[in-house]
Amino acid sequence: MTAVLELLGVRKIYPGTPPVASLRGIDLVVHSGELVAVAGPSGSGKTTLLNLAAGLDRPSGGSVRIAGHPVEKLSDRELSGVRAHRLGVVFQQFFLLDRLSATDNVATGLLYRGVPAAERRRAARTALERVGLAHRAGFPAGHLSGGERQRVAIARALVGRPAVVLADEPTGNLDSATGEGVVTLLHELNADGVTIVVITHDQQVAAAMHRRVELHDGLVVADSGSAS
Ligand code: ADP
Ligand code: MG
Repeated sequence: MTAVLELLGVRKIYPGTPPVASLRGIDLVVHSGELVAVAGPSGSGKTTLLNLAAGLDRPSGGSVRIAGHPVEKLSDRELSGVRAHRLGVVFQQFFLLDRLSATDNVATGLLYRGVPAAERRRAARTALERVGLAHRAGFPAGHLSGGERQRVAIARALVGRPAVVLADEPTGNLDSATGEGVVTLLHELNADGVTIVVITHDQQVAAAMHRRVELHDGLVVADSGSAS
């Protein structure tokens, strides 16, 4: 199986007095087709790991490879290209544009790829169908429920057919029933071939994923391992 995300001996040290070692040597390889939870208590390094895996930040040591591209060898411009073409990211706060329709929000996921507008909208509608929101395609995002908003954000992450989707606390702003719906959707998408890494402090969400990686104090302390 192809490795879509590889963290090898990854360290992140935030400067300060004293400096904070947020990640202290992380080894984590995610293969195509996996559904992985990265779990851990507050302060364990989850957000730091997400920022590195998403190419939003660079490690202090070790290597991060996104879809085979070593981040440390890429210019900022090249890294932006890898982000735009190979990654989908879903955030706890959704980050939708409230006045734009669900379709137009999803279409923004293709903005940095030079895809013509008509094709962006067509792909956006297909992605909305995949998350069960075809009937809301024309609604302004601001008029949608929390669960629907998170589905739009997931569709936006999917629309470019990325190598891997990273989701940071995707159920964190949802009530538990709505959160369960999002977990079910992640399973359906994974069954359909989407590789997904969920970052969560919620043990119930973590337990629902096929593979569970546990962080503590910037280290992987448990990993149930790849099925393949
Ligand atoms: P989590 O998301 O699991 O709560 P974080 O990755 O946010 O953990 O933080 C891990 C550690 O790194 C914590 O001790 C936190 O205080 C520290 N940290 C995170 N971001 C910064 C930063 N920008 N500057 C300094 N310390 C930071
Ligand atoms: Mg965090």
